[in-house]
Amino acid sequence: MDHKTILKKLKLCIQLMELHDENPFKIRGYQSALISLERGDQDIMELSDLELTQINGVGKSIIEAIQSLKATESFPLLDQLLEKTPTGILEILQIKGLGPKKVKTLWEELGITSTHELMEACQSGIVAKIKGFGEKTQESIIQNLEFKASNAGKWLFADIEDTIEGFTLSLKNLFGNSQIAIVGDFARKMEIISETEILISSEELTDVRSKLKSLESIEWNQLESGPRTWKGNLTDLDLEVIFHFCAPVDFPWKKLAFTGSKAHLLSYVDDSETIAEKLIKKDYGSEEEFFTKNQLQFIPSEMREGFDEVELAKENKIPELLQDSDLKGILHNHSTYSDGKHSLRQMAEYCKSLGYEYLGISDHSRTASYAGGLEIEKVIKQHAEIDELNRELAPFKIFKGIESDILGDGSLDYPDDVLASFDFVVSSVHSILNMDIHRATDRLLRAIANPYTTILGHPTGRLLLRREGYPIDHKTIIDACAIRNVVIEINANPWRLDLDWRWVRYALDKGVKLSINPDAHEMEGYSDMKYGVLVGRKGGLTKEMTLNALSREEITAFFAERKKSRQSQ
Ligand SMILES: [Zn+2]
Ligand SMILES: [Zn+2]
Repeated sequence: MDHKTILKKLKLCIQLMELHDENPFKIRGYQSALISLERGDQDIMELSDLELTQINGVGKSIIEAIQSLKATESFPLLDQLLEKTPTGILEILQIKGLGPKKVKTLWEELGITSTHELMEACQSGIVAKIKGFGEKTQESIIQNLEFKASNAGKWLFADIEDTIEGFTLSLKNLFGNSQIAIVGDFARKMEIISETEILISSEELTDVRSKLKSLESIEWNQLESGPRTWKGNLTDLDLEVIFHFCAPVDFPWKKLAFTGSKAHLLSYVDDSETIAEKLIKKDYGSEEEFFTKNQLQFIPSEMREGFDEVELAKENKIPELLQDSDLKGILHNHSTYSDGKHSLRQMAEYCKSLGYEYLGISDHSRTASYAGGLEIEKVIKQHAEIDELNRELAPFKIFKGIESDILGDGSLDYPDDVLASFDFVVSSVHSILNMDIHRATDRLLRAIANPYTTILGHPTGRLLLRREGYPIDHKTIIDACAIRNVVIEINANPWRLDLDWRWVRYALDKGVKLSINPDAHEMEGYSDMKYGVLVGRKGGLTKEMTLNALSREEITAFFAERKKSRQSQ
């Protein structure tokens, strides 16, 4: 049991209490305790009962629930509620926009207890006719169900990373004399993973197979398995796993073949042969040797996507890719001034303690009232606090930024004199996400043309596996950033990874700098930068083209130069 799971179970308990019409006072009690626990900084697992009592709203019954969760992963009230709830109802409760009240109505009036029944009821139109639902709700339920179905079995790289690496390590321990490698999408650091592919080579494959068969963590799919490939599912996750078996002598070429994307394997190395055709010659003993033998520069696995990496490798033009350690500072972060969890001081001190030279704070602007956006007085107050902290923490430096909402017409969210008071402005869209491609592109173009925009934040607003981004014409947007000297963010939050890596090469070719921004809303959020680096590398990003790889002095000069060019405009 960990902190997040405890919060999740308490939340589920509240939903179920609402579903089953428990005493409203009791429900409210749980809700206020949950809110305090979510806001708190401390890990529930590390808090003593006494410390828990001191948290607002946490009474005796919540403490008992937490004790029980720590010991048994559940608690009596939750067990009772779960017992009288069909499992399909639990799934329906996860659908966005359907609170416990609506789920209860669907259950009582239409007898719906599964997502399948819900889909049928929506398609026949009877859901719209229930009081409080209507056509719009019905349509959005259908969309959510379809989106959910299309994403079943898919995981964010960041959510599955530890599990896959842990699983592979356990295999390495189990099969001491075998060579084991993760191949496929995971080896190429794809942002979404729907299957894990593992290559095993051994002189004694029969032995390997019989050991694998006995693993309890895998449910085998015999119908889809053959002598060289086994398929199954990791039982505690909804994740497909594929094993490829080979003799040790075949390991290098199999590894290359299973790691490269199809498009990569079909890329031509010379006039007559593709990567795949060169691979099956098996006239090399290692990955490195394969590339040298074919007069190719080594192509890092994350770049083997079939863009133009083979062309680049022929001309020795694969650059040295960005690394975590190249990043010198962290831009685009939130504090308690808007919707962040930690104070400006905490965010700054933690950033400094990690060895970075600077922090860019960019809380939400005033229109983002749902996220505690800053009124002008609060901006002034924050700037005074930054000045003070900068004196105290020097040479570490906090840069004054803002994440300015791009309003519906493309304008920014403060008058010019306020915008001029920031060192940098991240301009982002957070509202009216349903524009068509023309309007959405024009809106961004106007924000890019605004001389105060330093960085274009999360360009499409997508949330992977949750919501599509608004459509934009990427080329037009990137071209405009090139002309206006606007930096584009790679938002490193694993849900976003926006700018998409497929556009990184185009941006680099146009001379547009990128910034790896964690969009941290708490101190731990800084660690997301590594996912931004991973996708940046997929697109060929270098240290030289990364804004926050600049040193403190260099970025100070960069911001100053932008200010100067604004005045001359
Ligand atoms: Zn944002
Ligand atoms: Zn943000």
